[in-house]
Amino acid sequence: MQFSDGALVLFSGGQDSTTCLAWALSRYAKVETIGFNYGQRHAVEMSVRPQILQAMRALKPEWDGKLGPDHVIDLSFIGDISDTALTQHVEIAMAENGLPNTFVPGRNLLFMTVAATLAYRRGLTVLVGGMCETDFSGYPDCRDDTMKALQVALNLGMATRLKLETPLMWIDKSQTWQLAQELGGGALIELIRAATHTCYLGERGTLHDWGYGCGSCPACALRARGYAEFTQFAKDRK
Ligand code: ZN
Repeated sequence: MQFSDGALVLFSGGQDSTTCLAWALSRYAKVETIGFNYGQRHAVEMSVRPQILQAMRALKPEWDGKLGPDHVIDLSFIGDISDTALTQHVEIAMAENGLPNTFVPGRNLLFMTVAATLAYRRGLTVLVGGMCETDFSGYPDCRDDTMKALQVALNLGMATRLKLETPLMWIDKSQTWQLAQELGGGALIELIRAATHTCYLGERGTLHDWGYGCGSCPACALRARGYAEFTQFAKDRK
């Protein structure tokens, strides 16, 4: 189904947000992207974004026609106001409150709110994010209820009818690969495998079958397991 609305995709350069971008390009009349510099420990994610956008354009002519400008917003003050393993050089571990110390409190709330402000200016009515409640790391700002509450708050506060779409909310990592397969076939799988970046440690030395990464941080472990399940599932169906 095609919608006439324009969408703004929160695009980090990772597997999830690249799949969300393909999802939006398959659905909406025009699509723009937004990325945030927030003093990430490793700038790798941000550096792969332009290559991915270029490769997405090359994948399908209609995607090329729909894909509008990419907006990079500086939110580096996050490092000044929060203490997290994503912005500081500390070991990734579980904190006392049961959340991993990669958690940046309120990050997705801030990202969505900034995206809403930009969408308002650009006349885009849909915000697309890769938040996922299925195999997430317990981040409370990835929850469906959080996003639904935020949608209400944003629309009340800005007098708009914005829609927050989270196509990955109820699927696991293997199903995220499957979704990419359905949206863009083997070419999109290959693009996501080789070009996107998920690893918390910023490791891009070795290309594994599931992509680049250290292979042992929580993000790599999740991505590798999902890819193994996806390829096994594809074999079983043959
Ligand atoms: Zn890793």
